[in-house]
Amino acid sequence: MGSKHTKQLIAEVFQELVKDNTFLPDEQSERTKILQSSEEILKTTDKIIKSYIRVSTERNGIKRIPAYRIQHNNISGVYKGGIRFSEDVSEEEVENLAILMSIKNALHELPFGGAKGGVHINPKDFTDRELNLISKKYVQRFSPDLGPTHDVPAPDLGTDARIIDWMVGEYKTINPGKSYLGSFTGKSKENGGAEGRRESTGVGTFLSYYYLLDEWYPAEDNRKETGEVLTRGAQWKTLQRLYEKHKNADPIEVSVQGFGNVGGVAALEAYNQRDMKHIVTAVSDQHVMLENKHGLNIDKLIEYVKKHRELPQKEKELKDLKVEAAIHPPEDILHYETNVLIFAAIGNQITKENMKKVKADVLVEGANAPVTAEADYFLQDKGVIIIPDILANAGGVLVSYLEWKQSQITEVFTKEEILAEMAGQMKQTFKKVYDTYFTSEQNTVRFSCYMLAVQRMTLLLYRHGKLF
Ligand code: NAD
Repeated sequence: MGSKHTKQLIAEVFQELVKDNTFLPDEQSERTKILQSSEEILKTTDKIIKSYIRVSTERNGIKRIPAYRIQHNNISGVYKGGIRFSEDVSEEEVENLAILMSIKNALHELPFGGAKGGVHINPKDFTDRELNLISKKYVQRFSPDLGPTHDVPAPDLGTDARIIDWMVGEYKTINPGKSYLGSFTGKSKENGGAEGRRESTGVGTFLSYYYLLDEWYPAEDNRKETGEVLTRGAQWKTLQRLYEKHKNADPIEVSVQGFGNVGGVAALEAYNQRDMKHIVTAVSDQHVMLENKHGLNIDKLIEYVKKHRELPQKEKELKDLKVEAAIHPPEDILHYETNVLIFAAIGNQITKENMKKVKADVLVEGANAPVTAEADYFLQDKGVIIIPDILANAGGVLVSYLEWKQSQITEVFTKEEILAEMAGQMKQTFKKVYDTYFTSEQNTVRFSCYMLAVQRMTLLLYRHGKLF
């Protein structure tokens, strides 16, 4: 989903908000003006900074590399968002990701606004020394616009704790005597990073679905018996069917695309569920899909990936590992028959071209934007439940918030404390979103998320006296 569609969704939210007299109850003419003003603010970006980083490379001589920091909006708090090193980085993409961060942070009621950074490189083409130089120069270029109370970056695609530690070091050199630990999140543990950061997105991604079936649905079922009508018929039936499976002790089947930080952890969460039996029947990575209708041994696959950084691709490797699985091409996972399909690889996986072949009841977006807007609407009409990225994969930014908080109070939280607080906060947001979606005419879960986020940001803009 690109920036055009993100802005379009924001515009559609405002069309709905105009009709809702209970939101900002002022004179109609005043309300219209206020909402128009908020729409203009949220559809435009506060600041786009582009710079070129000059670096002398061993293999390719001197290079000037485009780099960005884009700050979309900070009405909810300090600008926050990752820095990615990738060849796909462009101004349009970074701006879209910055807008998504504003929406995600507002939705989860974090004291953060939205920003994103990017450097247009393939990190594999550079030596460690060159990557160190690029990271330091990035901070030199953008330092006046960064800082613990202004804009706090984190790792993203192609960057990690090692790169963030280098950036923190440079930030400290440029700003002697100032507080620096809160200037970045995603640092190494030794440098003030949070425990549980690596697992957080995968844990939260699985929880976004599991909470819906295990906690929200049974509670809502009671409400339904008391006479309250839920309008989301087809999706309700999907939940009913899955819950029946659970009651009949029939395991719920899960497939996971991508077996890295997010996918591996999400698969393990499904595999380890005891209250509600799940089996992981298919997993994939860039090279292969492994399948077993009776369930894969995820513990063993995780162990293998830790060592080899990819899933086993040959019969012999599977045999040595004592894992029973059939081998398929990786793309088959998208059309595999399953109850829950978790995306944890890359964007644009379900599109107009292949949306009719999807055979899952629930799609969970652990990766950013794996389902295009067209496919989202099409599958929604078929009764598929789609849990969008801004709801499902917020575990990372929630733990970033705890890391930022621990840097301010100079206290260190344990992994258990971090993951428990993250899950508690996520569940509050899940409840709000699912309550809204299942009882309204809003057409997708994504739209319900945008609605709640835009309402929050508009209210804050209004309270800050910005809407004239
Ligand atoms: P990762 O690099 O650890 O793992 C990515 C996995 O996807 C690997 O198994 C890789 O082989 C696989 N993959 C890559 N291309 C593929 C393809 N074409 N088909 C099938 N599999 C493919 O990355 P990660 O940290 O697990 O992130 C996964 C996704 O989640 C990314 O899109 C990322 O932007 C998003 N995300 C991550 C976080 C986080 O905290 N790590 C937070 C929010 C969103």
